[in-house]
Amino acid sequence: MPFVITDPCIGTKDTACVDVCPVDCIHPRKEEPEFQSATMLYIHPEECIDCGACVPACPVSAIYDSLESTPNSQKDLIEANFVYRSSDPENREAAEDIVKRHIETHADLMALPPSERMAAH
Ligand code: SF4
Ligand code: SF4
Repeated sequence: MPFVITDPCIGTKDTACVDVCPVDCIHPRKEEPEFQSATMLYIHPEECIDCGACVPACPVSAIYDSLESTPNSQKDLIEANFVYRSSDPENREAAEDIVKRHIETHADLMALPPSERMAAH
């Protein structure tokens, strides 16, 4: 059951989770060319080993520990995490399109600072 990154990562994207992930399943990394343009980071659902290390590392509580625990307001971003692949431009674009739609359709959440969004999920 993979962990899921949600919208407090948008505007934060500090890669604290990347630094603690033991299997390098969170992308894009800072050194990947896609990093600058990525709106948020994504967890590869098949590579995540559910260790939980990323959750306390995230300064804005953006990471949920399962699909079930991901709140309704963030369910669309499950798909973004599932389709993102650093090596595939089409998959990157598909994930980013989902995130752009999320931003457009969740203006209330996006108006909050990232550190306050999780409490409003
Ligand atoms: S739960 Fe563990 S393996 Fe999965 S993304 Fe977080 S740190 Fe990486
Ligand atoms: S630690 Fe949280 S805010 Fe930072 S990149 Fe990871 S998910 Fe995004």
